[in-house]
This record gives sequence, structure tokens and C-alpha cells, in this order.
Amino acid sequence: MSLNKILIANRGEIACRIIKTAKRLGIKTVAIYSDFDKDSLHTQMADEAYHIGGSATKDSYLCMDKILQVAKTSGADAVHPGYGFLSENAQFARDCAKANIIFIGPPVAAIEAMGSKSAAKEIMQKAGVPLVQGYHGDNQTPEFLKQKAVEIGFPVLLKASAGGGGKGMRIVENEANFLEQLSSCQREALSSFGDDNILIEKYLTKPRHVEIQVFADKHEHQVHLFERDCSIQRRHQKVIEEAPAPNIPDAVRNKLGAVAIQAAKAIGYEGAGTVEFLYDIDNRFYFMEMNTRLQVEHPVTEMITGVDLVEWQILVAAGEPLPLQQHEIQANGHAFEVRIYAEDPSHDFLPAIGKIQHLQFPRVNDHVRIDSGIVEGDTIGIFYDPMIAKLIVWDQNRTRALSRLNRALEDCKIAGLTTNIDFLKAIAGNASFKATALDTGFIERESTRLFQAPVSAEPQTIILASLFLMLKRSSTHQKQIINHDANSPWSMNNGWRLNKKNYHPLVFVEERGDEHLQHEVMVHFCHQGFDMEYAQQSFHVEGHLDAHDQLNFNINGYQSHVHAVQIAYQLTLFSATQKFIFNLPILDNEQDAHDESKLTAPMPGAIIKVFAKAGDKVNAGDALLIMEAMKMEHTITAPFAGTVVEVFFSQGEQVAEGIELIELEADIEK
Ligand code: ADP
Repeated sequence: MSLNKILIANRGEIACRIIKTAKRLGIKTVAIYSDFDKDSLHTQMADEAYHIGGSATKDSYLCMDKILQVAKTSGADAVHPGYGFLSENAQFARDCAKANIIFIGPPVAAIEAMGSKSAAKEIMQKAGVPLVQGYHGDNQTPEFLKQKAVEIGFPVLLKASAGGGGKGMRIVENEANFLEQLSSCQREALSSFGDDNILIEKYLTKPRHVEIQVFADKHEHQVHLFERDCSIQRRHQKVIEEAPAPNIPDAVRNKLGAVAIQAAKAIGYEGAGTVEFLYDIDNRFYFMEMNTRLQVEHPVTEMITGVDLVEWQILVAAGEPLPLQQHEIQANGHAFEVRIYAEDPSHDFLPAIGKIQHLQFPRVNDHVRIDSGIVEGDTIGIFYDPMIAKLIVWDQNRTRALSRLNRALEDCKIAGLTTNIDFLKAIAGNASFKATALDTGFIERESTRLFQAPVSAEPQTIILASLFLMLKRSSTHQKQIINHDANSPWSMNNGWRLNKKNYHPLVFVEERGDEHLQHEVMVHFCHQGFDMEYAQQSFHVEGHLDAHDQLNFNINGYQSHVHAVQIAYQLTLFSATQKFIFNLPILDNEQDAHDESKLTAPMPGAIIKVFAKAGDKVNAGDALLIMEAMKMEHTITAPFAGTVVEVFFSQGEQVAEGIELIELEADIEK
């Protein structure tokens, strides 16, 4: 039997990734979308797309009935759930079967068996799979649990039985804190998963997270596709993954694979699954949980094995045998994946929201893969996970793959909102990471090196910003004079002024973290290029901008190029390690083209403080008001110096995304 049409019950990068494989296999695809996702990439890539409801997941991507209705209407014979949403929902798998639609995933019983961490442990224990010392039984009375923790020995880890995504997890250091931490874990478990059952585990102080990709068909054939190391985590969530896991003795590696297959067999598994282990410093490993779906980090396995895991999922769902035997599956080279997020690592990884004004990924080839569902101009909203893309690299060995990763990260250029790219660069360039000192405490241990405050722009960067501005101005001027007499002195763009000195002061406001720094550069027009003075240094500067946002420059005889993007009156310069943001001054002839006098809400939220009032004179970078959305504060600052014309809202009011908050009139530079 073969599948003809698949509905993808998901969105974003994973929906796009599944559609790609389906297309390659000649299978038609059906997308579903919420209000927010009307124009998103996955709807455009699919052969057809159906609107299923509001932006909140409970009104759309979690609505089983609506999704199944679309499957029937569109004539889909199978549903691929991706990861997250309904991917591990046994009820949904059951409903699909009832509706005669194939659920591309394991049998209902396997999802159910692994749905509770406690029940999963029980099954695995019986199957002889090693477990970390702990308690996962039914007795949930606090005093009993405390006694168990004492027997296990502190520190212990409390987990929600129904948990996931690190939610509810609490480390308890000693007996005195136990009951308090227990009730806090139970509260979070109840509110997140509707179930306050918890389990206790010995807390390993320096473990690695090593997981095995398994696959099984409907003909009792099980294989594994090696392991992934996912130890680089923040708040128990993966940030960087790699395959194979470095420094694991072959004998242990083989045993991990064999145990994972044993786990899959124990629950009659079919399809793609991941068996997660804690890997201790003494090379011992313990079963943690099994994820009964495709993992976010599956591409690293695909890169080293050459297997398309989605293709295998489709084959298995259609009842076909696995295409390869265990001995035919080979691991080749080394792969990394990094998760590029709209978030602010320096503020506890708070999600960032807003429009992706500029998006440039590295060129894709045999070594570099990008999985994304986002294109330039898209908005990262409050409704879904703020992942922008996964960047995956491959090479012959870990060292080479790591240089590829560093290079590819330099080529990721995103402006308009805060991302974790500079943080990922800091990890990829970190000496301990290079030396494979991997364990789940890595980010915390290396925090002083990874969370360095952004450095202030060097004089050369300030000069580049000035050069960019001067080149932009001359090109604007050039356009304006195109229909005029080119020989007229009024058409010259070299700064010649009648009765005026040939110099031009430029003032920039640099945004560095939460600070705003002012820089002043004096520009003299030359026959070729400019002479510039900054911080008592002189520079002769020449350059040109190409069509790909590249600023080619020559500063005092040093020639290179840099990526530079202007969005309204903000310039972003991308260096190898960091991006620099400058608020640009405005000239009188630019005033007309200026539409940023309207300051709008970047997302729906509430106004929590208003600083500005009509008539106020403000400087670039001054805070005008503060909004709150998704429990985060967003300060709306003046993008340029000017006068406040009107403030449209007051404290406590709710605002919709895109609505004008404040009108600001720019001061005109004379
Ligand atoms: P979740 O399902 O909520 O993501 P997991 O059980 O998969 O939770 O654990 C997530 C992460 O928490 C692991 O990758 C590891 O970093 C850490 N962790 C889990 N159990 C332990 C333990 N017993 N000791 C130390 N760290 C642990």
C-alpha cells in the first residue's frame, strides 16, 4: 500500500520539512493553518491549505475534530503530526484510526505506555533497561515521598510523571527543603499537565544527555540509527545537538543501541522513536524516557546516516518493511544542529516578539542545511514556540564540522528582533565545547564566558556606520537629481557647499544591551571617498554598497566587507561575533520619506507605563512608554530625536498589534 495524500497536523519548520520529503516521494500534501499563520511558508509549500481556527493552539493546532474533518474533506489518507501539538496524543491517534486515516506514528498502546514517565519506567525496569535510582510508584503521600528521597540520598530530582519540556522539575538539595519543593513541583505539574503525580530520581551532578534514534516496522524488525548528544541545554531544554556523541567507548555505544532496541521491543514499537538516557561520568547510562515521535534534532542523525527519517516514517506507516538492516546502517562524519531562537539570552532567554525585518541564512549545500518555516517579513508572535530556524552542519569529523558551524553562524544575519545567534556563536567558539567537555551543566559552568556583555563598537565600526550613511545619502541624492542637469553644482553629491565649509558632523546612537551610547564623527568630503575624524583618530575611507546588503570598504588601506542593513532609521552592522545597532540621524531631505514617526505596538499587550506626553522634546533612545506582553516588558524608545506630537494610550490600556501608540516628529538636522 502507498500513501497518496498526507495532512500535516503542524506548522512552521517541521511542517515544511515533512512537505519536502512528501513532495520528493510524489505524495500530495495538505496544510492546516490558524489565523496567525494565514500567509506562512508551510501553507504555501503544501498543495492545499485549510484554515482551522484562531491563533491560540487550543483553537487550531490542538483541535482534533477540526483537523480530522479537514483530513476527510481533503481526501488525505494519512496524518503526520510532526513534533509537539498532537504528536504524542493517544486520543488523536485513536480518532484517526476510527476515521480510517493512518496516523504516521507508533501504535496507540505504545504512545500510552510512554505517556507517563512513571509507567514507562515500570515497563523498562521489567524489560531489564537500566534506570537511575529513584521512586516512580503510586504512593504519593508527602511523608512517604520524603522518606524515599532520604533513602535515595540527596540531591534528588522531582519530575512530573506526565511532564515534558523540563516543566515542574525541581532539584532538592537536602531534606529540609523537600516538602516545599514537592508542593511547588506538584502545583506546576497540575497546572501544566492536569496531573500532579510526581516521581523522584537521584540527581546526577554531571550527566550527559545521550539519546538513541530507533525505528521499527510492522514486521517485527527494529533498528537503531546511532546516538545524539544533547547535553548543551538551557533550563533543561536542548540548544545544540550533535551526532555521534563524542568520547563514548564502542562497547558502551553498542550497548546503548541494543538497550534502546530492547526498550522499543518492550512496548511493541513501530515508526520513529527516541530513547533518552542520562550518561554518567563513569560511562554508565540510565533510561530517562522515550519520545514516541520525530525529534526536533532528528536532522543530525539524517546527516550522518544519509537516511531521510520522514521517508522511513511514511514507509512504515504504509506497512512497508524498513529499507535497511542494522548492519547496513552506517554512521559517517559528524553533524551539529543549533536552534536559532527569537529570544534574549542575557535576560534569562525570554522570548522576543516582533517582525523579522531582515533574514539571511548561509548558503545551503552538502555541508549546510537550514530547516525553517520563516521568511523575511514574518512575525514571531506570542502564540507559538519562538524558533526561527535550525541550522545543521556536517563534515568528516567533529573539528571540521565545528569550523563549519562557526562559519555558518557568522552567515546568519537577522535584524528586527533579538535572537540567540551571538550566544550560539559564543558556545560554538568556546574552548571547552571544542574540547568536548559536554554535560548538562555546561552553559551554567561557562556562563561568564558565554554571557559576556556586548562590547562597544570599535572606532572602525563607527567609521563603517558613517561610511554606510554617507553612501546611502549620496545614492538617495543621486536618484533625486536624475532628471536634473548633471553639470549643475546643485547636482553634485560630494558635499560641496556654497559659502560653507566642507565638513559634516554625524551623530549616532549605538544600542548596546540596555544602554545607549552617543558617538560623533566629523566627515570631510574628498575627491575620492571621505576623511573622517573620530575619537581623535583620522581615517581615509572609501567604499560602495552592493545589492546584497554588503558594504565593501577600504579604511586607511585595509580592505574588507561587512553585512549592513538599514531598517527605517536603524542600521545593523553584522560583525563575525556580534551585531551592532545604530540609530541614524535624519537629514531634512530625508524627512519626507520618513514614516517612522508612527510608533506602533510590536505585539498585542498592555501599556504599563507612559513616560512621554505631547510636546515633549526627546532624544534618540529615550524611553517613551513600556508595554507588557507574554509576561515580558518591552520599552518603546524614540528612534530619533524629536518632539512628541501625540500619545494615543494611557497606562493600563490594552492594545492590538500594529496599532499606533505615539506620534513623533523628527528634529531636522541643519
Ligand atoms: P522533560 O521530559 O521534562 O524534558 P526529561 O526527563 O527528559 O524531562 O529531562 C530533561 C533534562 O533534565 C535532561 O536532559 C537532563 O539534562 C536533566 N535531567 C533529567 N533527569 C536527571 C537526573 N536524574 N539527574 C540529572 N539531570 C537530569
